[in-house]
Amino acid sequence: MDSINKLIELFRQFPGIGPRQAKRFVYFLLSQTNAYRDLLAENIKNLKETIDICKSCYRYFPKDKIKSDKCVICRDPRRDDSCLLIVSRDVDYENVEKSHAYDGKYFVLGGNIPILEKDPLSKIRAKELFNLVGHRAKESGLKEIILALNLTVEGENTEDFLKKYLGEISAEYGIKISELGRGLSTGLELEYSDSETIKNALKNRG
Ligand SMILES: [Zn+2]
Repeated sequence: MDSINKLIELFRQFPGIGPRQAKRFVYFLLSQTNAYRDLLAENIKNLKETIDICKSCYRYFPKDKIKSDKCVICRDPRRDDSCLLIVSRDVDYENVEKSHAYDGKYFVLGGNIPILEKDPLSKIRAKELFNLVGHRAKESGLKEIILALNLTVEGENTEDFLKKYLGEISAEYGIKISELGRGLSTGLELEYSDSETIKNALKNRG
């Protein structure tokens, strides 16, 4: 396979990208300078060296001098340890953080569970979450888990799964499981929500 077709195949694996868009990306790259293409290739390569995944919340973060395996939020002693907000993807947590309406800790599931999924545990970081909840309950007084999942069919399916999955352990340790207030909007997606909407959804959680 030549480089054009190989790249088209690679771009097609990006979320929401079809064959025509993938082809447009490749021809765009061909029209750019060598310097641009080198910069792009270099930065893709650097991801491995410069970005790490947090061992606690599983979000991606830039490696720093401290060489900690935890991100700045998880290391921050001012953040409320009694509250854990669960999101599907990194873009969701970024938007919640931007709203300045939340000062607890996070957990990134890394996806959603599709309807009728036979192996839900393989779709999200469920076991990692379960272990973290147990650890936090014992070590740092976890009192509330906020499910901040998108109000889409998949998001709600994931929410239902997590409520059952975490039901026993949360009852054992007296942890409240809440979800974002739905307000007026249906189909709320954190990625596209403004700070005001997120603030209200957090305030009206239950
Ligand atoms: Zn973290």
